[in-house]
Amino acid sequence: MPPYPRFIVDAMLGHVARWLRLLGYDTEYSRSYEDWRILKIAEEEDRVIVTRDLGLFRRARKRGLRAVYVEEPAIEKVLALLSLKFGIRLSFDKHDTRCPVCNGVLRYTTSLVDVAGKVSEAIAVRYREFWICTRCGKVYWQGRHWRNINQVLEVAKVEKAKLEARRRALRGAVVAGRGGSSEGAER
Ligand SMILES: [Zn+2]
Repeated sequence: MPPYPRFIVDAMLGHVARWLRLLGYDTEYSRSYEDWRILKIAEEEDRVIVTRDLGLFRRARKRGLRAVYVEEPAIEKVLALLSLKFGIRLSFDKHDTRCPVCNGVLRYTTSLVDVAGKVSEAIAVRYREFWICTRCGKVYWQGRHWRNINQVLEVAKVEKAKLEARRRALRGAVVAGRGGSSEGAER
């Protein structure tokens, strides 16, 4: 397993792919991938399948592949689930992020020379930090949408805490059940 989990996301979850990339996770996504192709790539590249398709999820598990079935596509819930299952971080690391569009690694820069001619003057004057995609060349900065990104991550953390609490409660119920049966066995 690579140091970080890598993902492949099905056609219905484009928003999840963009978020995983933003958070720095190598994520394959294409609207034209058919199920067999997703299974093949996941197997060859050791990627976790993230899907809303129960049939695909079951086929993946049958083949021994790691897969997550997404019941609720709200991004906060999906990120919380992936964080719980695969330990993805729910924070943005400016030195470890990928292009939401093409999955290329983004290079962080504060040099206006690097972005000269690639962003408008108004943007160049207003922002100090930029990210340049090493694959497609697209330039990013922390514009107005940035507040929303932080908001989503904060909500995702709350959702994760809820999932953890539910999991603990379930485990407690299982342990209590076991305790009862082992008592019975001793008699
Ligand atoms: Zn790119």
